[in-house]
Amino acid sequence: MSGEPLLEARGLSKSFGALRALDGVNLRLEHGGALGVIGPNGSGKSTMFRLLGGLMRPDAGQAFLEGRPIVGLAAWRVCRLGLALTGQIPQPLSELTVRENVVAAAVFGGGLAMGAARRAAEEHLALTGLAALADAPSGRLTVVNRRRLELARALATRPKVILLDENLAGLTPVETDQALDLLRQINAMGVGLLMVEHVMRAVLGICRRVMVLDQGRLIAQGRPEEVVREAAVIEAYLGS
Ligand code: ADP
Ligand code: MG
Repeated sequence: MSGEPLLEARGLSKSFGALRALDGVNLRLEHGGALGVIGPNGSGKSTMFRLLGGLMRPDAGQAFLEGRPIVGLAAWRVCRLGLALTGQIPQPLSELTVRENVVAAAVFGGGLAMGAARRAAEEHLALTGLAALADAPSGRLTVVNRRRLELARALATRPKVILLDENLAGLTPVETDQALDLLRQINAMGVGLLMVEHVMRAVLGICRRVMVLDQGRLIAQGRPEEVVREAAVIEAYLGS
């Protein structure tokens, strides 16, 4: 393996009209690492994920997956290179069963042939606790099972890194704990995690590093328990 970080971004910027949604943000995630992204509503977290996932093009800046430039590539290509974005299940796929959904992700996102995709899907359904719901229509899942399906789909694309945008939002405390166990397990398998999360317990329990965005800017980064005590971070959450 090279000395390249798993995922790196430099100077990522994106404006919507006069609004600077993301303003020169740098990011670095090591292989197998877990990096949390926190910041108030509207601070640019989802915009950063969409730029990294190829859903939008930045106005400026670069991003690299294992040293390969990914800015400007189509989303499916970024996915094939090993970056999976959760929370982006296209509407038509809700007509498919849970199993078909995961098989489709393995074929289209992971580049597997049908036989291998089916075998991989069973594995990911079991890992995410969806085996009993494999034949259910995915459009009718509860919140927690929809989140599990997003994870199963992400895993099926054979990712090096998964970007989780508020994957734990709306879960009960028990469901949150189960999801945290699963995420830790996935991370221990060597899959890097980049996660936006408001559930601070989740960030503290998984991420060894966090970055804090405020109004599109990176205002702090470091170990989570230290970063949350920084004056600029407290002010970003309490001020304005
Ligand atoms: P976060 O995920 O941190 O809550 P977002 O990245 O979603 O923040 O949004 C950052 C800012 O950019 C917000 O002010 C939001 O309203 C704006 N924004 C995001 N996407 C768009 C868009 N497609 N068009 C216009 N404004 C957008
Ligand atoms: Mg968001």
